[in-house]
Amino acid sequence: MKKSTLFIHAGAHPDPSTGAIMTPIYQTSTYVQESPGVNKGFEYARSQNPTRQALEEALALIEEGNYGLAFSSGVAATDAVIKLLKPGDEVIAANDMYGGTYRLFSKIFEKFGIVFHYVDMNKVENVAAAITARTRLIWAETPTNPLMNIADIRALSTLAKQHGILLCVDNTFASPALQNPLALGADIVMHSATKYLSGHSDVIQGALVMNDKALRDELYFIQKSCGAVPGPMDCFLVLRGIKTLGLRMERHSQNGAAVAHYLKQHDAIQTVYWPGFEEHPGHAIAKAQMKDFGGMISFELRNDSMEAAKAVLSTTHLFSLAESLGGVESLINHPASMTHASIPREERIKNGLSDTLIRLSVGIEDADDLIADLEQAIHHSLG
Ligand SMILES: *Cc1c(COP(=O)(O)O)cnc(C)c1O
Repeated sequence: MKKSTLFIHAGAHPDPSTGAIMTPIYQTSTYVQESPGVNKGFEYARSQNPTRQALEEALALIEEGNYGLAFSSGVAATDAVIKLLKPGDEVIAANDMYGGTYRLFSKIFEKFGIVFHYVDMNKVENVAAAITARTRLIWAETPTNPLMNIADIRALSTLAKQHGILLCVDNTFASPALQNPLALGADIVMHSATKYLSGHSDVIQGALVMNDKALRDELYFIQKSCGAVPGPMDCFLVLRGIKTLGLRMERHSQNGAAVAHYLKQHDAIQTVYWPGFEEHPGHAIAKAQMKDFGGMISFELRNDSMEAAKAVLSTTHLFSLAESLGGVESLINHPASMTHASIPREERIKNGLSDTLIRLSVGIEDADDLIADLEQAIHHSLG
């Protein structure tokens, strides 16, 4: 089945009791049993819920994997993966990734004795050089948030397999419509379903997808034991969001390309970070492993003062100043003070994330309107 069809039909079965075409929201905590231990496969809703089950089936299908697991947030999904490890185990992670992932690793899991090495994943050699006998997991994010760096998933997977290490890829920025890490050899795909999967800025949720049954069973055990499960209403919303994922990502990618090219030719713009440009260091890999480049773009003004950046950030009308991304509406964000403020400044600057970097989540409005909005804001910043 083609992807665009799958997005609409994955996990959707008419409700057996009424024929309802949409998956019902099973707002229940428990299930009545016929006699002790005799039930319909549902015992308690932390362990199983039919709405969540439909979503998990859909997640597996659209990510080209065998098993899906839904979590109460993206960071809860990440948390579950790290709980596969034990004290002394080592993780190699990207030095440029979502700030909340870095915070979870450095502020929560380090104190339980898990050791994290942060490397520049633009080059697989850097990952290879950080492998020790205790490395259990490679945590990759591609494209990265917010600098749009690209990691070569197939090369990372080859390396991980040689050393018997798990590879988990945060696929939030690309979404399953543009990139499928399991097909490229990754062991686990992680999503903040809050973003493109839901697509409407109305839910917080996370997801993991994998192929291996034993790995699925271990992660399911963590999911039900630690309890970071999403409610049925949120599962329903993400199921509904997935139906339009294919269409939305086409439009996000078209608008992203239009905005990136507009910014690049602008005299007041210094640098545009977007993997669709041929001169982007990860372009060839992005082109090979992604179907399109999506709607995320970062840029810096030629005037590198905070005042100029603030002028742009506070004068757009269609681009709302907010954290998060991946919704139908366009957002503008200042990573240094917002999404990535949890990373120490010194660490941020070292990894190329400047104080004046501006990040855009380009929505699915009309591209001309979005460009006109940026034009007036950039003009305003020139004073
Ligand atoms: C938002 C985000 C997360 C965290 O997900 P939440 O749903 O906010 O917990 C992880 N990775 C990336 C790339 C994100 O953008």
